[in-house]
Amino acid sequence: MDCIFCKITKKETPSDIVYEDGELMVFKDINPKAPVHLLVVPKKHIVSVNELEDDDADLAGQLIIQARNAAKSFGLAGYKLVFNVGRNGGQIVDHIHLHILGGWADGQDPNKVKIWPTKILKSK
Ligand code: AMP
Ligand code: ZN
Repeated sequence: MDCIFCKITKKETPSDIVYEDGELMVFKDINPKAPVHLLVVPKKHIVSVNELEDDDADLAGQLIIQARNAAKSFGLAGYKLVFNVGRNGGQIVDHIHLHILGGWADGQDPNKVKIWPTKILKSK
């Protein structure tokens, strides 16, 4: 299967790995939309939140738990966790992933920062 995130989790494609266990990997986004932009990616190929099965509930919980741990290890006082779901939700890579976005400076309003500029979405 030609899936970039499967290749990354199998280490067939290099990435900047932050954390790894038997179920998932956390690595740096190659095109960061925030001062700190990490992706939490399960090793199991699941297309999106829409394709999660009931049996994936533990795994889905682990994505959030490990996102919290990674945010803590990066010293993020506050951050956003985002799942893009489907093309209409801005999803480009069809392997479920949880975005961790943070690291904005004190006084910078994280809700005024454009996370996914429209022109990038339109070009894909
Ligand atoms: P989404 O729009 O939710 O599908 O987000 C996909 C994310 O994957 C984007 O933020 C990309 O910058 C990121 N991305 C794509 N290819 C790679 C890669 N090889 N290594 C790290 N991040 C990647
Ligand atoms: Zn995959």
